[in-house]
Amino acid sequence: MTQPGCRGPGDKKMDSVVVHYQEIALKGNNRPWFVARLARNIREALKGLDAGEVRVLMGRIEVLVGNADREMLRERLGRVFGIANFATAGRAPLDVDIIATRLLEDLGDREVSTFRVSAKRADKRFPLSSPQIEREVGGRIKEAKGWTVNLAHPELTIHVEALTNEAFYYFGKDPGAGGMPVGTSGRVVCLLSGGIDSPVAAWRLMRRGCRAVLVHFHSYPILSRASQEKTRELSKLLAKYQYHSRLFLVPFGEIQQQVVLAVAPPLRVVIYRRLMMRIAEAIARRQKAQALVTGEVVGQVASQTLENMASINSVVSMPVLRPLVGMDKDEITAEAQRLGSYTTSIIPDQDCCTLFTPRHPATKARRVDVERAEAGLPIEEIVRSAVEAAVIEDFTFPEIESP
Ligand code: ATP
Ligand code: MG
Repeated sequence: MTQPGCRGPGDKKMDSVVVHYQEIALKGNNRPWFVARLARNIREALKGLDAGEVRVLMGRIEVLVGNADREMLRERLGRVFGIANFATAGRAPLDVDIIATRLLEDLGDREVSTFRVSAKRADKRFPLSSPQIEREVGGRIKEAKGWTVNLAHPELTIHVEALTNEAFYYFGKDPGAGGMPVGTSGRVVCLLSGGIDSPVAAWRLMRRGCRAVLVHFHSYPILSRASQEKTRELSKLLAKYQYHSRLFLVPFGEIQQQVVLAVAPPLRVVIYRRLMMRIAEAIARRQKAQALVTGEVVGQVASQTLENMASINSVVSMPVLRPLVGMDKDEITAEAQRLGSYTTSIIPDQDCCTLFTPRHPATKARRVDVERAEAGLPIEEIVRSAVEAAVIEDFTFPEIESP
């Protein structure tokens, strides 16, 4: 017979991960839907790792580690939006003796001088209050280990969470990616240039729960294929956060040649941008996306003045979101490095917007001038044929090996 608290032969140590969410806990009536979405995203994120079940419990989600590589599991969970923090945990029946026994077993020969137990009750029907659990479990650890309790600055915090039928315990938490689960805030179309800013802008909206459809304008074969390769890499990277990325590669070179024939050099950048926005909007409508996203920053380059932004905005009737609008370049760069896009973004390429444009484009393009210049262009036809010529590529994370 096994003693109470000892594990049976099939019971592995610390084989759960408890996932906590925060912001989504506040979402009132939508809460079950948010949580189900988060659980679904976690399953997607862990595909191919041979992890166990993902279970929705009271106020948290449990992931069974199964046969997954723990480091990879941690890395993948660390990218899932909507997670506040997560912890590798052990599970025990709701009995302080058993909890303490298992916990001591899993602490192994770990030595600290001070500790505290921090308990939470998800189910208030559990007969012991949180302070009582803390005292009881803490007392047993103190007795067994001889460690001192220090509530203010413990070297080790031992967490115990009592649910309806079981308890979790764990010794440390990993911070989650925060934000909201991808798919809970609708869809946006992000204009992805291959530079530093736009992938960060897309990532920021994904972190707010949006699925990002990516649109890149390239001038191949007038310019090299480099920008397309970069945006493919970036789409693949962004798929690590949203599991599926769809990239539209829109040929823009011929359109630019048309612009060159009709528009004086200083206005070309603004006109390119206005055309890009119209084409992106047409793609957004087909993809059922509700907003456009760019990596523009006020004052960063000549084309990004308030006047030019107004001019660029005025041709579309959906919101244009600019999540980086007030950031400094070094802040954006730091975020690109954290996200992992920076090394791809700095690979040299030729930006299509510099094609046939002067070094000093108009910073305050006047509306009448812009509209007069565009009058010579078959705008609707340009937009229609650009959408038709777009090549769609899909990227999935994790990449599924074809059989
Ligand atoms: P980025 O680093 O994102 O390229 P940037 O500082 O180079 O930004 P611009 O080149 O002026 O600034 O581009 C501003 C925004 O316009 C980009 O963030 C992107 O959203 C969009 N954009 C520019 N060029 C393209 C392109 N070729 N394809 C798709 N979107 C583009
Ligand atoms: Mg750019």
